[in-house]
Amino acid sequence: MSKHKHAYHIVIFKCITCDGIESIWNSADVELPIGIPCRVCQSMKRQINPKAGMLEFTGKAIPNVEYIPKRGERVIVEYNPEMSLLYNKIKAGVMWNYKPQGREPLSSNFKSPYDAAMEMQKIYKPGKPFIITL
Ligand SMILES: [Zn+2]
Repeated sequence: MSKHKHAYHIVIFKCITCDGIESIWNSADVELPIGIPCRVCQSMKRQINPKAGMLEFTGKAIPNVEYIPKRGERVIVEYNPEMSLLYNKIKAGVMWNYKPQGREPLSSNFKSPYDAAMEMQKIYKPGKPFIITL
């Protein structure tokens, strides 16, 4: 029994800017992402901002546990602790000496980027979606 309504479903996303359609398989029992970045049009980066151009869930989803994805397709997987830690390490490395307006860089609050990444990791929660390209 799945915990999430769209577990193992093939979901159709439509870009609100270029109208591009993409089928993405949810390969795990995780919630759907609210939006995904469009691989085709120039608005890809803006789509990270929910107000600027998220993709819409448009289609009826059909469950398919046996689906065989093709190379190059994007699929939804569970954001596991290892992936979360890798991303937190990347983020900590990038942000280590970066000084956002009116805020201190990470280097003023942590002994090392690793310590900062481990602190970020504390908010990891299982069951979150993550999109990978096969
Ligand atoms: Zn697009």
